[in-house]
Amino acid sequence: MGERRHTRRRRTKVLVSILLAALIGCAGGENDAAAADTPRKPTVYLTFDDGPSPVTDRVLAILREEEVKATFFVVGAQAEKYPERLRQIAEQGHAIGNHSYNHKYEELYGDFKSFAAQVVRTNQILQKKANVTTRLVRAPGGTFGNFDSVYFNALQAAGYIVFDWHVDSGDAKRLNVPAKEIAANVLNAKLLPEMIVLLHDGGSHKETAAALPQIIKHYKKHGYQFAVLSDKVKPHTFRLAPTLKWKRAKPSPEQAVAWLGGKNAALPKQAAGTQPQPPNEPAQPTEPAQPTEPAQPEPAEASTNITLREWVTDTGGSVSWDPNQGIVFAFVQGFELHLIPQSTQVEVIDPDGAARILNVQLTWQNGVVKLPADALDQLLAPSAG
Ligand SMILES: [Zn+2]
Repeated sequence: MGERRHTRRRRTKVLVSILLAALIGCAGGENDAAAADTPRKPTVYLTFDDGPSPVTDRVLAILREEEVKATFFVVGAQAEKYPERLRQIAEQGHAIGNHSYNHKYEELYGDFKSFAAQVVRTNQILQKKANVTTRLVRAPGGTFGNFDSVYFNALQAAGYIVFDWHVDSGDAKRLNVPAKEIAANVLNAKLLPEMIVLLHDGGSHKETAAALPQIIKHYKKHGYQFAVLSDKVKPHTFRLAPTLKWKRAKPSPEQAVAWLGGKNAALPKQAAGTQPQPPNEPAQPTEPAQPTEPAQPEPAEASTNITLREWVTDTGGSVSWDPNQGIVFAFVQGFELHLIPQSTQVEVIDPDGAARILNVQLTWQNGVVKLPADALDQLLAPSAG
């Protein structure tokens, strides 16, 4: 995609700061965006992929003994084979997510249609065998190099939430990685305020179960609470890879969503009105467009919204659209921003190359991206490291 980042220009930077200050000032000085992130107890999300299997029994026993909850990303075919174990996971208060039907990379990433069919099929199995409805998805092998914007966008539009991980226990690096090595991988990982740990409970992962008590004690010792993934947890996915491991056709966004069962297909069907704001409501105007006011339902007093293009070009940056990747690129002050249409996630690549994903109240309408003025400093803040 052409140049990765623009040369930094000090003068622009100063100008931008002034401009930003002015913009933020216009927003009514509401600078309490940071207040939402007030520190709370550090939290770890243990995740187990590829089960259920006989190893799940041991994992469940340890979790019960240690009184911690975890998230199981199950494979549909395994759930069909071991429905009783699937039910036990749910009954013991753990979360269940979708990890495809057969875990075969070539099928899942050879084309989106098969991926979608496997997600749908697995969710039907979870519903039927354990009365579980889930919106959680973990990509077999992780999203990096496997997912493109079609995957991310369609899953989001259908109401799914994708989670990668922060810490890989390394228990699937090869067959029979010893428990000692698995535990060491986790214990040596940098501690984050919120961290998702990748583990496995497939049939070949006895060693993971053996390492589990030590892993749990490690986090307890460091004051962590254990929680399950849900739609309340800040999503975490890897950045989009510049090149994919796969060659495949690109369906239209509409087609991709349809294969997943349509918009919001993953959302619980009942009581649609109880949630104040469905997280995945993209700004699709359904009524004939009103002449002046955008048909945006309710960004409360959204008068502080500014358009991305205006902001970027005003600050000497540039915006471009990559039709192949389906991404909007913006280059500002040495920062590179990636925006996926209809998504509220922005990938930010710092001048020093560090990448992070931020959730910003973006609105997408008729090819125009708007964002709250007070999101700007958040986007261009140096990464926490
Ligand atoms: Zn897996």
